[in-house]
Amino acid sequence: MKIKKTWSMALEAMQNQVDEQEFATWLRPLRVLGAEDGEIRIAVQNTRIQDYVVENHQGRIEHILEALTGGPVRVLFQVVSKGPELFPDDRPDDDLKAEVAPSTPGLSPNYHFDSFVMGSSNQMAYTACKAVAERPGTNYNPLFIYGGTGLGKTHLLQAIGHHLLAHNRNARVLYVTCEDWLNAYINAVQRKNLEYFRGQFRDKVDLLLVDDIQFLAGKERFQEEFFHTFNALHGAGKQVAFTSDRMPSEIRQIEDRLRSRFSWGLIADIKAPDFETRLAILKDKAERFRITVPQDVLEYIATNISTNVRELESCLKRLECEADIRACSIDARMAKEALKTIIKARAPKVTPEKILMLVAARFNITVADMKSSTRTKSITEPRQMAMYLCRKLTTMSLPEIGDTFGGRNHSTVLSSVKKVENQVRMDSEFASVLEELIRKLS
Ligand code: ADP
Ligand code: MG
Repeated sequence: MKIKKTWSMALEAMQNQVDEQEFATWLRPLRVLGAEDGEIRIAVQNTRIQDYVVENHQGRIEHILEALTGGPVRVLFQVVSKGPELFPDDRPDDDLKAEVAPSTPGLSPNYHFDSFVMGSSNQMAYTACKAVAERPGTNYNPLFIYGGTGLGKTHLLQAIGHHLLAHNRNARVLYVTCEDWLNAYINAVQRKNLEYFRGQFRDKVDLLLVDDIQFLAGKERFQEEFFHTFNALHGAGKQVAFTSDRMPSEIRQIEDRLRSRFSWGLIADIKAPDFETRLAILKDKAERFRITVPQDVLEYIATNISTNVRELESCLKRLECEADIRACSIDARMAKEALKTIIKARAPKVTPEKILMLVAARFNITVADMKSSTRTKSITEPRQMAMYLCRKLTTMSLPEIGDTFGGRNHSTVLSSVKKVENQVRMDSEFASVLEELIRKLS
């Protein structure tokens, strides 16, 4: 079926499901751009619209498209600010017009410079990234950032992309993880469209951001590809920036010529944050998550978690979850109790596998059911609960949780989490089941 036709049928179906105003404002203006391999790209006019639609309608859109196409569908939104021909229903909203946002390919909306807390441990990396974002392709090319897990490498790398796009919306920014690039490369080899693929990297990019470059180790043919792409971009004065979990000299099994290129520009490291920085990060995150956490609790966390910013975040999420379930506010006693497994005992980590098995057993279903596409209530409810638990009790990101549950979209995960949050408030039996599960997991 032609995608345009499918889309207009999907719109019709949605028109019957959502109220008129909502439909006219948010859904009718969406335009389909194309479809490949179950990925359907949809144009939105700016990131504000994108955020709203992702949060409120993406699940619905995917369900309907899946029903119409008979296969799994992933919807990707793309900000296209092309003007009237794409968006005939454009409303005369000054606010929206002022905010014609560039497309942000692969960049998380949360990873901006202004949401990054600078301290002595990351000052050098932060400053270098900022300099590169302001004057790409000049001094620090390539930029190589390295440091341990959960210290903000990905955050800073993506912030470069956001910054550049905010100041030059025609800039062509490409963010990839090294692993994604490798997979795309393998695909291109198999489909025999390597020339086109190379062109996408070498001729169509002004800023290339490659995350977790240590993944190159031992992949000889891919290193060759990487090397030539790097040369093409660098030679053309385009900016390249990398992250890695270790410094170039410590990445084994990579060619020397690559290793030496990593050192051409600037190498900057990120270390674990000191106490003040940890505290500042916690304050900032609590505000962003919109949870109220007293100072002594923040200090308690900052004192006890010292090596990983992602773990700081997960403490806050854990507290939020606890406060949801008990319908109470966060205070020192509650925090100590709730965080004791994370903090004191360094207890065995809660893993997604444990969550899946425990929840499946509790509801007499199988782990495979949870990962399946079945949508009967006896399966969806435990599935949503398990997603919620992954979100609150592990440091997994939304896409990672989606992958764990049979390749679901991050927005599906988000809406499941929200559903559970709501139900906990309204249904005390549900809340006590959840509480029991959490107790067993910790
Ligand atoms: P890495 O790529 O080094 O493993 P990430 O960039 O994914 O780490 O960071 C992990 C989490 O911690 C992210 O949510 C990120 O926003 C947050 N984070 C790390 N450092 C900081 C910081 N200095 N300020 C604010 N948030 C931070
Ligand atoms: Mg990372």
